[in-house]
Amino acid sequence: RKGNVIITGASSGLGLATAKALAETGEWHVIMACRNFLKAEKAAKSVGITKENYSVMHLDLASLESVRQFANTFRRSGRPLDALVCNAAVYLPTAKEPTYTAEGFELSVGTNHLGHFLLARLLLDDLKQSDYPYKRLIIVGSITGNTNTLAGNVPPKANLGDLRGLAGGLNGIQSSAMIDGGDFDGAKAYKDSKVCNMLTMQEFHRRYHEETGITFASLYPGCIATTGLFREHIPLFRLLFPPFQKYITKGYVSEEEAGGRLAQVVSDPSLTKSGVYWSWNKNSESFENQLSKEASDAEKARKLWEVSEKLVGLA
Ligand code: NDP
Repeated sequence: RKGNVIITGASSGLGLATAKALAETGEWHVIMACRNFLKAEKAAKSVGITKENYSVMHLDLASLESVRQFANTFRRSGRPLDALVCNAAVYLPTAKEPTYTAEGFELSVGTNHLGHFLLARLLLDDLKQSDYPYKRLIIVGSITGNTNTLAGNVPPKANLGDLRGLAGGLNGIQSSAMIDGGDFDGAKAYKDSKVCNMLTMQEFHRRYHEETGITFASLYPGCIATTGLFREHIPLFRLLFPPFQKYITKGYVSEEEAGGRLAQVVSDPSLTKSGVYWSWNKNSESFENQLSKEASDAEKARKLWEVSEKLVGLA
């Protein structure tokens, strides 16, 4: 049978390119988990994904209620789940004030981390039950959260501190809207959320890999300077960022190439190692990359897991 893969945020950028790459193999049915149903349908058509190879299901990661509904609806569809790709993200680098999810969490961490944390936890049982030869849970990471890289050292740097803001509810009322309890900074909130994504992947690996055989992995697909992720940035940045990445840092990858990389992590029989953060070298070969000290801190990963469980209502 075909594999079934859920991809969050498959209505644009990396998620869409990955959906296309997997659907084209003829071996995957892609469930596009998107907040905007019409946009997702149009996107699938625009890149030529054929009808029998995808379905769109509504998911708004900025609402835990919607995440729970999605998990229920998916289960009722009767499809087995063979791979889950947590890809969607928001990036609000120019926001002066925090905005919030339905449950009142700062939007970047609420969407990118907490929404995906609940989704992955709810769907873990479905992955466990699949009889597919490889079962994978992939959470898209980023270089920007990794302070052991040049890009990760551009201020404001990611830093979760002692998680006091998160533990306080990340709501800007009783607690700060930032995980470390500091003043709101949209660019930092995004980077922090990506550190959470990478810590979550490793904690899943430690808790569940042996017992379930599921492969847990993260990746940095390269700098895809053309995606919608930068839509909130100032116009001059949006104009100069793609050529800067192409010709100066040489870290640029096209959406198509990045989609091919993520599709590889989902389906390549040689990439089944769990607990790995994949990157690609100049010849586009995959390798196991090192995470920064904070993004590989096992104690912080455990604490993040426990605090997140409370916030999303699992503990
Ligand atoms: P895009 O903005 O193109 O795609 C983000 C997707 O997330 C969109 O489909 C968007 O939906 C969706 N999304 C946003 N909020 C929600 C929500 N509340 N519920 C459901 N879906 C939502 O960005 P990219 O393709 O660049 O980003 C994809 C991933 O790649 C992210 O995890 C990002 O951190 C990562 N990444 C990107 C890099 C880059 O250079 N671009 C580099 C490294 C990592 P909609 O279409 O409705 O807006």
